[in-house]
Amino acid sequence: MKKTRMRSMVVYIMSISFLIGIAFFVFEFTLKGKFWAMNNINTHLSGNDMSKAGKILDRNNNILAQSVDKKRKYSEDKDIRIALLHTIGDNSINISTSIQNNFRAELFGYNIISGLGLSNIINTANDIKLTLNSELCKEASSGLGNRKGAVVVYNYDTGEIICIVSKPSYDPYHKPDSNKINLDEYEGVYINRALSSSYTPGSIFKIITATASLESNENAEQISYTCNGVMDLNGEKVTCLAHHGDIKLKDAMAKSCNIYFAKLALELGRERMESQAEKMGFNSNFDINGINLKNSFYDVSKASDCDFAWSGVGQYNDLVNPVHMMMIMGAIARGGTYIKPYLIENMVSEAMGIKVNYSRIVAEPQIMTSECAEELRNIMSYTAKSQYGSLFKGLDVCAKTGTAEVGDDKKPHGWIVGFSKNRNLPLAFSVIVENAGYGFSTAGVIASDVMQKANKIM
Ligand SMILES: [Zn+2]
Repeated sequence: MKKTRMRSMVVYIMSISFLIGIAFFVFEFTLKGKFWAMNNINTHLSGNDMSKAGKILDRNNNILAQSVDKKRKYSEDKDIRIALLHTIGDNSINISTSIQNNFRAELFGYNIISGLGLSNIINTANDIKLTLNSELCKEASSGLGNRKGAVVVYNYDTGEIICIVSKPSYDPYHKPDSNKINLDEYEGVYINRALSSSYTPGSIFKIITATASLESNENAEQISYTCNGVMDLNGEKVTCLAHHGDIKLKDAMAKSCNIYFAKLALELGRERMESQAEKMGFNSNFDINGINLKNSFYDVSKASDCDFAWSGVGQYNDLVNPVHMMMIMGAIARGGTYIKPYLIENMVSEAMGIKVNYSRIVAEPQIMTSECAEELRNIMSYTAKSQYGSLFKGLDVCAKTGTAEVGDDKKPHGWIVGFSKNRNLPLAFSVIVENAGYGFSTAGVIASDVMQKANKIM
């Protein structure tokens, strides 16, 4: 009798373990099956075999990638191929943030019931339609030319990214060989700098310092400091490009006075500066359709007084991601809340008759009050009109340039961030040109050309 009980116990335990195992498998399969099947080490699909994947289209249904006669074909326009390399990807797996890498399963038509089995019998591949305008991307790419950097533009009312370009790039049909990839010309060529890089912001960070001041003082616009071109802090120095004399917020922003914003940061204190930066998304993770962005970074906990003063001017260890800065521009344009940017409009399986809409308007929490956003619009509009007169002709643009010192005898990074105030052209932008010199003459000119083109074609 005892023996029988013992045996049935063993059978029970084995059965339960088996059921738990099955349940675990089903759970894992449901959750991760797509990734198992689509993993780059799955040789059925990896490497060059993109021959069954669906199309990738821009917002006007221009074909950016498609499979014809078992070959992956890209845009017929070489300049568009180069402009969109980082967004679309190539036949390799090197560009990890590309659509072809991140939406492999969807492009091949994987589903949980049949896996990839069905795609061998009927065409289950999905076409992916992007929010991008490929002509605008081409304009941004030619603006950057051979310089390194990134350009992003999005519709701040809907969240649609209409332009995203990273340089250096290459034609996916003529991938440089491995010796060339190591040359400075191709440094970081697989990285989409708009998504996966963060840079010293320089003067564009003055917008964050100004926000901290506007949010904590009703009379922030009346606060005046004196700039004599240099400020001494315990033997260390903050310097300015000019002697601005007595100056208030609006002119300090327009003329980009370092001393004003250094003194303002010191006055506000570390806690307020950090909490404002964090409220605006610094040190937080964001994504675009599940593709992670590099964090923007602000931390003055270990800074000397002089370092802290420089942090208010966008130097010290401050870092910003280009897409994140564009989101902040969207928030200022809209009154304090930005719409989350996205890149995929929809996914269509023609054979299966399924269309999945990805477009959605997601409003994020207030990152500043609407009063503060309005004051920033006025200040940035004044900055653009009084200082960048030759740019954005005929457009109602608010903007701020930056020239970020990066040390090591390298030329500074040139920045511009801003947006069109005109709600018929609700676009925010962010442009960085690495080691290129002044923000105005480098990034500013690119942003102006892209916005003019957008105004014509949108
Ligand atoms: Zn100054």
